[in-house]
Amino acid sequence: MGLTTLLENKVALVTGSSRGIGKEIACLFAKNKAKVILHGVTEEHCQATAQEIENITGDRPPVFAANLSDLPQVEQMFKEIFKQVKGLDILVNNAGVLEDRLIGMISADNLETIFSVNTFGTLHCLQLASRLMRKSTAPSIINLSSIIGVQGAAGQTAYAASKAAVIGITKSAAKELGPQGIRVNALAPGLIETNMIEHLSDRAIGSHIENTPLGRLGSPNDVAKAALFLASDLSSFITGQTLQVDGGLRV
Ligand code: NAD
Repeated sequence: MGLTTLLENKVALVTGSSRGIGKEIACLFAKNKAKVILHGVTEEHCQATAQEIENITGDRPPVFAANLSDLPQVEQMFKEIFKQVKGLDILVNNAGVLEDRLIGMISADNLETIFSVNTFGTLHCLQLASRLMRKSTAPSIINLSSIIGVQGAAGQTAYAASKAAVIGITKSAAKELGPQGIRVNALAPGLIETNMIEHLSDRAIGSHIENTPLGRLGSPNDVAKAALFLASDLSSFITGQTLQVDGGLRV
C-alpha cells in the first residue's frame, strides 16, 4: 500500500467537516482513497468541502446534518448513515466549540453549550459509531481534545474541562473497545489557524508562538496528518493515547 492510499476502501465519518481542521482531515482522507462521509450542522455548510473532495476523487461524498448537542438528531443521523453505507471503519470526532469565560462569569448555559458538543456529542457519536464498526477489519476512532485539556488555560476553564473529559473518554473507550479491535486515540492540538482562534489578540498569539519551540502556529494540515496516522494501519498497535500536535509547546 502506497503512502497516498493509506485509507483505501475505508469508510470515514468526520464530524464538523464544513471548515477548519475537520475540512482538512476530510480532504486528506479522501486523497488517501477513503470513502469520506461529511457532517455539518446543516448540509449547506458542507458543500464547499463536498466540492473540494469531488475535485479530488471525482465523486461527491455523502453529507449528513445534525446538531451534535441534540441527541435525537445524532441518533437519526447514524440511522441514515447505516442505511446508506452499512458500516464504518473510521470516526473522527472533530466538531467542537470554544467560549472563553473567566471564573465567576461561567454560566450554566456556557457549560451546557460547551459540554453538549465537545464532550456529550463526542461520547454519543463514539457509542453509535462503534456499533457500525463491528464488521470493520481495522476500526479507528479519533477524538479531538486540545492542549488546553492537557495543561489548562486562564479564561478557558469550561473548555479545558470539556476537553480533559475527552481524554478520559478516549482512555476508557480504548480499554473497553480494544477487545473488539477498535482503537481509540485523541489528538491534542496547540493553537491552529482556524476560525476558532480568530478572536485572539495579536499579543496572545505572539506570546503563544514565543513559547512554541517550532516558532509558529499550527495549520489544519498539521493536525490532519496526525489524524491520518491514527486512522491508518501506520498506528496499528497504538490505542488510548493522546497525541500532542503543538510544535513542542508542552514537552
Ligand atoms: P472551527 O470552529 O473552524 O470548526 C468547528 C466545527 O465544529 C465546525 O464545522 C462547526 O460547524 C462544528 N460544530 C460546532 N458546533 C456544532 C454542533 N452543535 N453540531 C455540529 N457541529 C458543530 O474550529 P476548528 O479549529 O476547526 O476545531 C476543530 C476541533 O479541533 C474542535 O474540536 C476544537 O475544539 C479542536 N481544537 C482546535 C484548536 C485550534 O486552535 N483551532 C486547538 C485545539 C483543539
